[in-house]
Amino acid sequence: MSLSEFQLIEKYFARQRIRRGDVALGIGDDAALLRVLPGMELAVAIDAMVEGRHFPAGTDPFAIGHKALAVNLSDMAAMGAEPAWATLAISLPTADEAFVAQFTDGLFSLAYRYGVELVGGDTVRGPLMVVVQMHGLVPAGKALKRSGAFPGDAIYVTGTLGDAGAALQQILKGESCNAMLRSRLDRPEPRVKEGMALREIASSAIDISDGLVADLGHILAASGFGATLDVEALPLSAELLDTVADREQAWPLALASGDDYELCFTVSPHREATLHALASEWSCGITRIGIIDSKAGLRLLRGDGTPFPLAVRGFDHFADAERGR
Ligand code: ADP
Ligand code: MG
Repeated sequence: MSLSEFQLIEKYFARQRIRRGDVALGIGDDAALLRVLPGMELAVAIDAMVEGRHFPAGTDPFAIGHKALAVNLSDMAAMGAEPAWATLAISLPTADEAFVAQFTDGLFSLAYRYGVELVGGDTVRGPLMVVVQMHGLVPAGKALKRSGAFPGDAIYVTGTLGDAGAALQQILKGESCNAMLRSRLDRPEPRVKEGMALREIASSAIDISDGLVADLGHILAASGFGATLDVEALPLSAELLDTVADREQAWPLALASGDDYELCFTVSPHREATLHALASEWSCGITRIGIIDSKAGLRLLRGDGTPFPLAVRGFDHFADAERGR
């Protein structure tokens, strides 16, 4: 017997372990009531995920729940904000309890780890689509922005790049996919604590959702400068290198494939020592990949100074892309 909308909400969405002290009223009324302390700014981000576009039909519901929240937590990380409250709009073809149970398990297990409370939402019938809105807190004036990079600043990324893209490529080709690469695509780990720690250090930041070149491009456009990257410095996982013939084949994935959800940020040279001291505690690690220039445009160079040609430049939903995202 299928459940009604209200039974679904009651049984699955209202069931969670996190109860935050700053939630005056959560799920159950016409709106949630949330307390923002004086001196704090509210950081708000929203991401929609549509079946067939952001995940293939038949994707593990746990992974959909995880990723719907993870991509929003990644936006909080990129702003240096502390995640606090989420709202969720979900469109379901049927009141499929097994789907909703696994979906909420994926969402709530990640929410629990970051102390995020789901405070409201909307449940409707329709094609499978999930929209999570995330609300975070950041001390007033301290958020990391895309603008703020300055010539001479070093460019860094967290973690490794291209893993999710390699997984997607293997899936689209119908090849079996390495488990680590697959988990990078399905269950990205948002760099929340790293983003918050970068508040006092980075001059600009963005999370890498559409590919490094595209997302660093947003920093360059917002900051009004250019950059030079050393492609040989790009951090590549052993698992990614196993899927390609040589490093040169891995670079386009690291530069232009999306879904990595690592942070790309810039740091003025006098703060780099502090950064390295901090980052020595981070399991994801950081890598210096280039430098901000006063000259506009983005230059991709090999170690010997010769240009590295890149055909694809990142993901754009409205471009005539063949990629199955
Ligand atoms: P309204 O009609 O006033 O918008 P609803 O009947 O749609 O309220 O929802 C009842 C309550 O359940 C509201 O507090 C709403 O925020 C919450 N809710 C509905 N769907 C979800 C969901 N998918 N996740 C979390 N909360 C939800
Ligand atoms: Mg109402």
